[in-house]
Amino acid sequence: MNIKCPIPDCGCENPSESARCQRCGANLQAYSRLLFLPDYLFNRGLNHAQRGELAQAESALQAALAFNPKDGETLLLLAAVQSAAGNPAAPLTLTQADQVVGEGALWKTQIGALKTLLEEVQNPPLSAHAAAQMKARAQQIAQKRKKHKGKG
Ligand SMILES: [Zn+2]
Repeated sequence: MNIKCPIPDCGCENPSESARCQRCGANLQAYSRLLFLPDYLFNRGLNHAQRGELAQAESALQAALAFNPKDGETLLLLAAVQSAAGNPAAPLTLTQADQVVGEGALWKTQIGALKTLLEEVQNPPLSAHAAAQMKARAQQIAQKRKKHKGKG
């Protein structure tokens, strides 16, 4: 992926590892680090989620959302993590993901699966078997490819 120079009058496309903009000479290193940070955090969140470390996964994903609040993929993974943890914030996160992702998108089926999951969460008491099933399903949803940009 190329780095687009952030200087408004420039906007030159530079190769991904460029230290400086080839047109205006702006320092691109700090900028690209910032640019890749949300993906790095998403990948960390995904790693934790796949190991069942739900609290750590949630912190990483919340941090990713601080940089990029409208990332549907991150919101969806966060909703999955929160529902696996029985976190009451899960339905709200899912609603946000739904709004961001919109109709006809790739993630629609996953959102449907998560909604079913949340309905089960909202019917306590949860048996150990149901809880384990929830966790397995959330992990299944989390079995996604990492984003390419981040290196985490
Ligand atoms: Zn430039």
